[in-house]
Amino acid sequence: MRVVIAGGAGFLGSHLTDLHVARGDAVVVLDDFTTGTQENLAHLASTAAVEVIAADVSVEVPVTGAVDRVYNLASPASPPAYLERPLETLAVGSEGTRRLLELADTSSARFVMASTSEIYGDPMVHPQVEDYRGNVDPIGPRGVYDEAKRFAEAITMAFHTKRGTDIGIARIFNTYGPRLAAGDGRVVSNFIVQALRGDPLTVYGDGLQTRSLCYVADLVAGLAALGDATVIGPINLGNPDERTVLEIAEIILELTGSSSSIEHLPLPTDDPTRRCPDITRATEQLGWRPSIKTEDGLKVTIDHFAELLDR
Ligand code: NAD
Ligand code: UDP
Repeated sequence: MRVVIAGGAGFLGSHLTDLHVARGDAVVVLDDFTTGTQENLAHLASTAAVEVIAADVSVEVPVTGAVDRVYNLASPASPPAYLERPLETLAVGSEGTRRLLELADTSSARFVMASTSEIYGDPMVHPQVEDYRGNVDPIGPRGVYDEAKRFAEAITMAFHTKRGTDIGIARIFNTYGPRLAAGDGRVVSNFIVQALRGDPLTVYGDGLQTRSLCYVADLVAGLAALGDATVIGPINLGNPDERTVLEIAEIILELTGSSSSIEHLPLPTDDPTRRCPDITRATEQLGWRPSIKTEDGLKVTIDHFAELLDR
């Protein structure tokens, strides 16, 4: 297969690239390196099967030749990253997605959309099932990301119904692991780096809000399973092991052996209070479920950051 991965130099995209290279596929990475890095793909530099093209997919999708699959992972993903780039986030979710859909459609390739649990906003239904339509404030600060992804789902479905494009939509829940950018502001990378440096762990609000953390290897296996299937979705991909943010801080303190304190900072506007995926659909339709326990995945991630900080 020849697979195009938009956002392939990012955290999830680089792991998805590894997965397809390991399967013997040729991979074309399209990335503008706003939040992704060359370093995430450095280990593949001498792999002939990987071609890296620097491009902003909101402006151009410079891919020629046969394509069998297109994954759209291009978008800032961490709240600080998309809050800093509201217009770029809206552009990549809308125009970027449209351009990638055009490529998939004209190539008769399957298109996999990396959507998000943020579709559900601050959810009134718990755990979140795919039929739940969400509770999003379109003009709140997070609206630029949530609505970009909601539009991306809508245009993906419209290509399918109008043109018959082969599509699958994944709603990805919080994922962590090696290659999370140390400074991108997400909870796991923040807490691990703070714990390893002996700095206070910055818990926003009372820390009783919940998240369910999925290890990256599990997540990209789910994305590839959706790519291999004929399922349209949307389909939740995540680990239903729900924890409070305070619990996540305490586990990381224990696993690092750090004596860092916990410091409470203000809760960001519209920060969802509860989040946990119902993965019945993924299990039944893709035969997928996560297999890596939160503590085990966190240990590997801590080792990765310890090595990074040493360097
Ligand atoms: P990331 O920031 O590490 O990766 C995103 C990649 O997209 C980066 O390499 C970035 O440079 C690239 N990119 C951004 N705008 C672009 C543009 N206009 N043109 C080309 N490339 C562009 O984030 P991630 O965690 O790897 O997330 C990947 C995708 O998965 C995102 O679309 C995100 O919304 C989605 N997602 C991730 C999570 C998670 O927990 N990691 C959860 C839900 C959804
Ligand atoms: N969070 C926190 N401290 C941090 C970073 C995040 O308490 O240093 C909280 C944040 O308020 C949210 C949760 O951790 O409730 C997950 O945040 P993240 O940015 O990783 O992802 P989100 O699910 O909000 O997109």
